[in-house]
Amino acid sequence: MKVELETLKELQLVTNRLLELEKLLSAVPSEVQSLETEWQEMQSKLEGLTQNRSETEQKLKTSRESLEVATQQNKKFEHDLNAVTNSKEYSAVLKEIDSARKKIGHLNEEITQHSTELAELKSKIDECSQLAQESEAKYKEALETHRGSQADHQQEFEAKTAEKATILKKVSAPLLSQFNRIAARRNGVGLSLCVNSICTACNVRVRANIVDQLRTGNRVIQCESCQRILCYHEEEPAGK
Ligand SMILES: [Zn+2]
Repeated sequence: MKVELETLKELQLVTNRLLELEKLLSAVPSEVQSLETEWQEMQSKLEGLTQNRSETEQKLKTSRESLEVATQQNKKFEHDLNAVTNSKEYSAVLKEIDSARKKIGHLNEEITQHSTELAELKSKIDECSQLAQESEAKYKEALETHRGSQADHQQEFEAKTAEKATILKKVSAPLLSQFNRIAARRNGVGLSLCVNSICTACNVRVRANIVDQLRTGNRVIQCESCQRILCYHEEEPAGK
């Protein structure tokens, strides 16, 4: 029985590591996630600026076309001024010229404003696309490193799965089903080490006569507190 309990202990250790590996394999580290978020934010900022630029370009084009039209109209009015026959017509044409010139002035202001905006947007876009490239590189590097470590974990996962299968063959069916029943209710932990008279799973003291029985390891004893199968362990367990 003592040998079987030792085998069960090995089973517990390999099961614990498999659970850890499952978690590691399914999770993307938060630093990689935040680098991805940073890159996505930079990309959407860049998209916004690019959108803004094409809108401004369109406005500039419209203003230039309007200016062209207004300039032609103004020329026509100036030409008309030579052909007026009375003062009423004269003042009417003058009024048109005045309004056309105001319009031209206004359009020129608009064009200047749009051009300034375009120049500013261009430098913002240059800056932003530089930053986007940098954060993309940082993210991809972190992701690659993470995937590298995942490959190690995947390899270990496969090795531990094979190890578990081998261990399972060495445990008797009744003991294994008892272990599995307990493990299913206790987060996958069906066996606990009794170290310095304490159940290491639930931290409850194990009675002295039970510890004596555990030391001989002649029968399967469950912790009176957490019900896990107890396995006697002389000192603090060294790591995993
Ligand atoms: Zn316990």
